[in-house]
Amino acid sequence: MRRQSVAVRVGSIRVGGSNPIVVQSMTNTDTADVESTAQQVKSLARAGSELVRITVNTAEAAAAVPAIRERLEQMGVSVPLIGDFHFNGHKLLREYPACAEALAKYRINPGNVGRGSKRDPQFAEMIEVACRYAKPVRIGVNWGSLDQDLLTRLMDENSASAQPLSAQQIMRKAVVLSAVQSAQRAEELGLPHDRIVLSAKVSGVQDLIAIYRDLAARCDYPLHLGLTEAGMGSKGIVASTAGMAVLLQEGIGDTIRVSLTPEPGGDRTNEVIVAQEILQTMGLRSFAPMVVACPGCGRTTSTVFQELAQRIQTYIRHRMPDWRKQYAGVEDMTVAVMGCVVNGPGESKHANLGISLPGTGERPVAPVYEDGEKTVTLKGERIAEEFQELVEQYVARKYARKEPA
Ligand code: SF4
Repeated sequence: MRRQSVAVRVGSIRVGGSNPIVVQSMTNTDTADVESTAQQVKSLARAGSELVRITVNTAEAAAAVPAIRERLEQMGVSVPLIGDFHFNGHKLLREYPACAEALAKYRINPGNVGRGSKRDPQFAEMIEVACRYAKPVRIGVNWGSLDQDLLTRLMDENSASAQPLSAQQIMRKAVVLSAVQSAQRAEELGLPHDRIVLSAKVSGVQDLIAIYRDLAARCDYPLHLGLTEAGMGSKGIVASTAGMAVLLQEGIGDTIRVSLTPEPGGDRTNEVIVAQEILQTMGLRSFAPMVVACPGCGRTTSTVFQELAQRIQTYIRHRMPDWRKQYAGVEDMTVAVMGCVVNGPGESKHANLGISLPGTGERPVAPVYEDGEKTVTLKGERIAEEFQELVEQYVARKYARKEPA
């Protein structure tokens, strides 16, 4: 069962409460570069990111934020923008009121708001700006930039204790306390309870699970879930999924981000797709039709089967932004692309639409099933094109047309 949390409004999106778990992402462009940042935000939003975070680290970046918002509106992109602030956040928010206004939420890392005596007043100034503009705040702790004063105090107390905890346990406790105490401080400064989201990101899966369980038990703020520095490629995907899936299964997590390191020149939208796939494969949300494909084996000695599975997957991703606007429920569709007739027809019968390609030594025909019934057998050179057309026709026929917005 989902953990009970308060709902927080972030622009047009609601996070927490009984609202669907929100997918978010972050740009890696220079925020001062308005066009590049707006284009990447647009790509992330088109891929399905419901909130997009941008770093606001310099005066140029802060000055660019309203222009990015405006450019997005020109392109018809309404996704809420979150500003990521660190040491100079108080100054930037004070000196660039249009930036403070244009953002839908501020992310504040309590370990990075200022050192020593500067920390409290600088944190307070950011919270005061959030109150003035009625913006929510994510108190986002990161163990790489943990509040050192708090950690030192906990370490000292632990050393004096009769039954000291391990250094790892103290670190976990410090991460949780930093988040919870900062949120309490923000409320004392006047930020309403329902304008706070918490996160406590670490890079170890077991640490993540332990910390979020503790956090979830201590408060009812919505929790933003994610593994920081998850890594590249399959390592990043597996680590993020392993950590988040355990917590999501326990009902913990109201918004997620998969922090993948892109390959050089790689597509930033991958992190959005992975986040969606985690939620969809767990049955928590539906975003796009699922393509079920067998792994292939000695019966699939040509690449025809892999090419068709990839083609259909890509086609669905490409069509989904339009389908989403036009057809209700299309995101729940499943399409099976199977490599031979051993398991192909059986799997196809469980899908909305399924095709079994001919395996090695089988007749060069491809039976197609719709809603469990065999409807047609494709053959010849145009099997891929014809199956793609069948997918398009199925969507148009089976899903109710939405009224234009
Ligand atoms: S469905 Fe056929 S091709 Fe695919 S893994 Fe099973 S036996 Fe191999």
